[in-house]
Amino acid sequence: MAKTPEQDERFDAIIVGAGFAGLYALYRLRGAGLRARVYEAGDNVGGTWYWNRYPGARCDAESLVYSFSFSEALEQEWEWSERYATQPEILRYAEHVADRFDLRRDIRFERRVASAHFDEIPGLWRVVTDQGDRAQAPLCLMATGCLSVPQIPDIPGLDDFAGQRYQASLWPHEGVDFEGQRVGVIGAGSSAIQAVPIIAEQASRLTVFQRTPNFSVPAHNAALDPEFVEEFKTHYREHRRLHQRGLASGFGGVEIQPKEFAPAAPSALALSDEQLDRICEEWWEIGGARFLGAIGDTMISEEANQLVADFVHRKIREIVKDPITAEALCPTSYPIGTKRICVDTGYYETYNREDVRLVDLQTTPIERIVRDGIQTTEEHIPLDSLVLATGFDAMTGALLRMDIRGRNGQRLRDKWSAGPRAYLGLMAAGFPNLFLITGPGSPSVLSNMIVSIEQHVDFIMDCLETMKIRGVEQIEASPEAEEQWVAHVNEVAAATLFPKGGSWYLGANVPGKPRVFMPYAAGVGPYRKICEDVAANDYRGFIFGASSRDA
Ligand SMILES: Cc1cc2nc3c(=O)[nH]c(=O)nc-3n(C[C@H](O)[C@H](O)[C@H](O)COP(=O)(O)OP(=O)(O)OC[C@H]3O[C@@H](n4cnc5c(N)ncnc54)[C@H](O)[C@@H]3O)c2cc1C
Repeated sequence: MAKTPEQDERFDAIIVGAGFAGLYALYRLRGAGLRARVYEAGDNVGGTWYWNRYPGARCDAESLVYSFSFSEALEQEWEWSERYATQPEILRYAEHVADRFDLRRDIRFERRVASAHFDEIPGLWRVVTDQGDRAQAPLCLMATGCLSVPQIPDIPGLDDFAGQRYQASLWPHEGVDFEGQRVGVIGAGSSAIQAVPIIAEQASRLTVFQRTPNFSVPAHNAALDPEFVEEFKTHYREHRRLHQRGLASGFGGVEIQPKEFAPAAPSALALSDEQLDRICEEWWEIGGARFLGAIGDTMISEEANQLVADFVHRKIREIVKDPITAEALCPTSYPIGTKRICVDTGYYETYNREDVRLVDLQTTPIERIVRDGIQTTEEHIPLDSLVLATGFDAMTGALLRMDIRGRNGQRLRDKWSAGPRAYLGLMAAGFPNLFLITGPGSPSVLSNMIVSIEQHVDFIMDCLETMKIRGVEQIEASPEAEEQWVAHVNEVAAATLFPKGGSWYLGANVPGKPRVFMPYAAGVGPYRKICEDVAANDYRGFIFGASSRDA
């Protein structure tokens, strides 16, 4: 017999998701003496690093910075082996965090939250999972991830394919052996860029189907030097402080050396060709996403951006021997950095292999997928396996897949029908006590996400402490503050080149999704300051209210 709402399990807080955000939220809530329950769709912790097991999956922020800062003991004892950690190593780290802090006992795995409804009297969130669990709590934290819902492309005949089909972000746990197979990869974003060089080593023939090329910078990955690690760990607090406060724009929180916190030159336009080339070369040699930070106006001036893009085009043409393939790999339809810059190990070089080929879908689109391969407008390409590396329904996907209803039964889906709206990316007006960790309107995907996760969870915990002191039980974003914040997020984005990218930051990869630039582009440092300022000014823009439970 179905349980009645009176039989719901009762908690102080419900957290949805057990990636890094859910783990840290649980740790902090428990530390504050609150009883929390986490629901996670997967059968283990780790989130992104649990699901994305495709060959070559690894972080493109460096290991020493892509890690939690909340426990000095943890950061000292954990040993990263490579400059850029692989997916298995990051998953082990997440598992270690869960075990070290005894977090698993409050997590229920293989439970996907289907709905979360706010019940105004008595002021509780009622949560139901796909397994029929029912729980209630005055507080609900969405730690559902910005990149946790795979985007399956709508290609005619996709289901007709008789070979093996894999989605990069839902990779089989037992791994896949492509030895001797003809493999097709659809997509040319970050996952494809990481997977292609590895799949090429196994497959007898690899064909990459590319709609839009992406810019990629070499990782220059290597084993970590123990002396460097020791030195870095000795100064961990200072590094963390810089990552939290440091960068004004671009990908905040990924720098390793102090010199990387400031651009080598404020403007490309003031440099001679030789100077620009020398700086770009130097940062290309350092490697990684922070290449974008080399020149100060890369993300704000189209002219400057073009000069940096030209440098990368030259690099691609230098590496890739076949001139037609090299041209197809050079992104020309959007400014560099306005789609997430990729970090690779041997991606462009892979196209020099005789058994690897690029099909440019701009010139020869896919007509349909057939039983034994792909039919383009030009030819039939036989395949044994097909890998879809087609990205995510980013930032809002996981939230909108749930039936979330706030005050007066308002659905989040309806509220966000023209694009997401949330004050500071943390709370949507009309949804009391529902916090979004790294929600749309916060730096989120434009940052080292562990830095942003910790900042959001710390903000929420401070806020809860204030509520406790005041004896109030509800907090909610005011509609005016939300309105102003959304306008500000748009204004900041409009002052950069980001909206010109036609990227998943804008929802452009999902048919029918409203085109709204979702992350906050001013950087983690300025954003943190705004949040601190809001808190110091009596949580400006938030409304505190007594819960109707007290009525
Ligand atoms: C391939 C890849 C590489 C990346 N590389 C980097 C990088 O180099 N640097 C960086 O900063 N970030 C990177 N990211 C972003 C990455 O998502 C974050 O760094 C971080 O792992 C996010 O943690 P999270 O806990 O917020 O979300 P996630 O790790 O996505 O975890 C969310 C969890 O919520 C669960 N969930 C979602 N909906 C529900 C529901 N309804 N019910 C129950 N559970 C649910 C999911 O199953 C998932 O386990 C990368 C992402 C991908 C996909």
